[in-house]
Amino acid sequence: MNENTAAADPLIASARRDEICRIFGESYDPARWNDWRWQMRHRFIKPEQFEKLLRLTTSERRGLAMTHEKFAVAITPHFAELIDPDDPNCPIRRQVVPREEELLVGPGDMTDPCGEDHDEVVPGLVHRYPDRVLLLALDTCAAYCRYCTRSRLVSQGELDPLPRRLDAVIAYLEAHTEVRDVLLSGGDPLLMSEDRLDEVLGRIRAIPHIEFVRIGSRVPSFLPQRITPELVAVLRKHRVWLSLHFCHAREVTPDVANACDLLADGGIPLGSQTVLLKGVNDDVQTLKDLFHALLKVRVRPYYLYQCDPVVGTGHLRTSVAKGIELISGLRGHTTGYAVPTYVIDAPGGGGKVPIQAETIVSYENGQALLRNWAGRTYSYVDPAEHA
Ligand code: SF4
Repeated sequence: MNENTAAADPLIASARRDEICRIFGESYDPARWNDWRWQMRHRFIKPEQFEKLLRLTTSERRGLAMTHEKFAVAITPHFAELIDPDDPNCPIRRQVVPREEELLVGPGDMTDPCGEDHDEVVPGLVHRYPDRVLLLALDTCAAYCRYCTRSRLVSQGELDPLPRRLDAVIAYLEAHTEVRDVLLSGGDPLLMSEDRLDEVLGRIRAIPHIEFVRIGSRVPSFLPQRITPELVAVLRKHRVWLSLHFCHAREVTPDVANACDLLADGGIPLGSQTVLLKGVNDDVQTLKDLFHALLKVRVRPYYLYQCDPVVGTGHLRTSVAKGIELISGLRGHTTGYAVPTYVIDAPGGGGKVPIQAETIVSYENGQALLRNWAGRTYSYVDPAEHA
């Protein structure tokens, strides 16, 4: 399958959609396809469904048979359409179809690499930095990324539903006047109903010292049908910022572009986080294509994450040296807005550490010698009183 076939040719796209629908005993109907609840009810979760969707490798077949006990498998029909059924190295496929390698445990692998459990102050509320908290709103996602940093929690069914935890969360936030920033993540908060989201955001927004509310979501990539005018109205009402998650330019389909347009036209600020993944996006041109595609739909690439050392993700991780090489190949070589900050979430709870090639060659006697994107050096002289 050509990389852009599904998006570029409507006839071929609907033929593939029809094949996908027939796996569930239905024919392609655009109205049903565009209904996010239909998409959620028709996710690929069983090995026999994957047998019909893809030409599976032995490793994928074993992965599907064994890994779901550790971390759920699910793919929306929308995202399934983007997968090349014949290419096991398809960058979309590598993100969501499990492989046998997930059962391997490498040196340094951790179940909670960001150390979130240690900083949990109320069930599902993590308070590590002085002025901001992370609220794990729910433990389900539209589809499951095989490299998820929260696979210990996401899809495991152990997190109490938010309505049962919300009073305790609100009480904690009210008592902690130093908290000005709340990030809702999970799981994917945009899978909540509009009414539930309105209630949760309304109660958080009613706390006078909370200035800034963000939602982390991969819904626009996995399930763009969920971005409805009603949902946008709730996000706008509560002045929410969205941190989206995209890993490859092929995810930015026409449906995704429409969803991002709806959000941007609704006044929702949009940023994107990308995880650096081996065989998915670990070359300069692929990253450049992704970041340019995001800018075209008014999404600002924000972070490029070194993949966290989660147990069973060794086959998807690349080296820090590779990451530095890639970010050096972007900075100065394209629009500044298209260059995210490359970070490592320091394992064990150290927080995000920005990584870049050395740009200050020396700094002495009030004179900084700088190395630019092309490797040339320039000097910057401090004002006289600082020399
Ligand atoms: S969308 Fe986020 S929380 Fe859900 S599986 Fe992917 S990385 Fe994990």
